Amino acid sequence: MGSITPGHGSVEVAVIGAGIVGAACAYELAAAGLQVAVLEREPVPAACSTGLSAAGVRVQWTDPVNVALSLHSIEVLRGFAAEFGVDSGYRPVGYLFLVPEQDWPDHLAGVEVQRAAGAPVQVLSLDDAARRFAPFDPTGLAGATFGPIDGVVDPHAVTMGYLRRAREHGAQLRLRAEVTRIERGADAWQLLAGGHEVRARVVVNASGAWAGRVGALAGVPVPVEPARRMIWSTAPRRGRATTPLTVDVASGVYFRSEGERLLLGRSNPDEQPGFVTGIDWEFLEPTLACAVARFPWFAQEELDARASWYGYYELTPDHNGIIGASPQVTGWVDASGFSGHGVQQAPAVGRAVREEIVDGRAHSIDIDPLRGGRFATGAHRHDRHVV
Ligand SMILES: Cc1cc2nc3c(=O)[nH]c(=O)nc-3n(C[C@H](O)[C@H](O)[C@H](O)COP(=O)(O)OP(=O)(O)OC[C@H]3O[C@@H](n4cnc5c(N)ncnc54)[C@H](O)[C@@H]3O)c2cc1C
Repeated sequence: MGSITPGHGSVEVAVIGAGIVGAACAYELAAAGLQVAVLEREPVPAACSTGLSAAGVRVQWTDPVNVALSLHSIEVLRGFAAEFGVDSGYRPVGYLFLVPEQDWPDHLAGVEVQRAAGAPVQVLSLDDAARRFAPFDPTGLAGATFGPIDGVVDPHAVTMGYLRRAREHGAQLRLRAEVTRIERGADAWQLLAGGHEVRARVVVNASGAWAGRVGALAGVPVPVEPARRMIWSTAPRRGRATTPLTVDVASGVYFRSEGERLLLGRSNPDEQPGFVTGIDWEFLEPTLACAVARFPWFAQEELDARASWYGYYELTPDHNGIIGASPQVTGWVDASGFSGHGVQQAPAVGRAVREEIVDGRAHSIDIDPLRGGRFATGAHRHDRHVV
């Protein structure tokens, strides 16, 4: 353990992690008048999952909590420039789900959940979908759905926008400040961050794929594990049409356009948890096989290995986030475990965390189903649209 520099001050809330979730929490708390310190291990914000995501945002979920979290977040991201002076990069290119016959009834039930929440979703015939978007092989498919306000954002810009405003409200951003010790005192937490002591009444654990490790420092069980995920990029092609983020539900393969490139991804169900480094090139072939089977034109695409990358999903046992104040541990608030959909939930999570700390309970959206205690009682959440 490094030496301690005394007198580095106390804050009301220490937010661990300067990804998009920590940034949204820091802004909401600082704007509410609390003294906040954001403690980030890396030399820059958004360097981990936030900067490495596919950047998709969508209302097409089947769990009402996820629909509500994403819908509010998209509203914030849509108006981000006016509120934060930074363009969030929101582009409503849409999400297109191509759905196999056996999943179609449940998928349509999901559409009802989305519409009941006020989220616009279109049900398309396969002919309509093929006419409007990139062609595909319809074998085994029953239909498609399209979310016209779904799309993509710039997670880095959003993180920086939140942090800038948070700092204007007095929040401290401490970079190269890895939290290596967390101890509970009589009325506050004592943290060691980058060799400096920090006292805080409340800790918000927004450390993404590291949330389990950070919880362990404090003796708080946080069931979050890292799982490597790849994004493969094609070479640029002049005049490439913009495509929605298109999901082949049967195989889990997805792609979207990014400028003149296509970005391709698919979760490997056999990926073992852990901070495994490097792109898994062996998984490219089965992924491409899925892509070509559904989208035969993909066989003509050229891959750009140097433009491809990997990052970590932050997986919980039910692949949904953990949000809210711990009922067992005073002053501990979870904001992690978003399992591959944290970018699109961050604004709503920031608001919920602020309400938990300032008002005593989140009230804008009922986050109870996503509290950490659910795993002990077996009340897991199952959203059919986790990709
Ligand atoms: C390939 C891929 C594709 C994805 N696609 C999407 C998508 O399309 N849409 C979507 O919504 N989400 C997507 N995600 C998921 C999304 O990126 C994450 O859910 C989101 O970024 C989580 O944000 P975060 O702030 O919690 O985590 P992070 O961005 O990982 O931030 C956590 C921060 O905590 C810091 N930290 C960790 N430990 C410590 C410590 N001990 N002390 C101090 N700091 C610490 C880290 O350095 C990091 O900066 C994708 C993820 C990947 C990997």
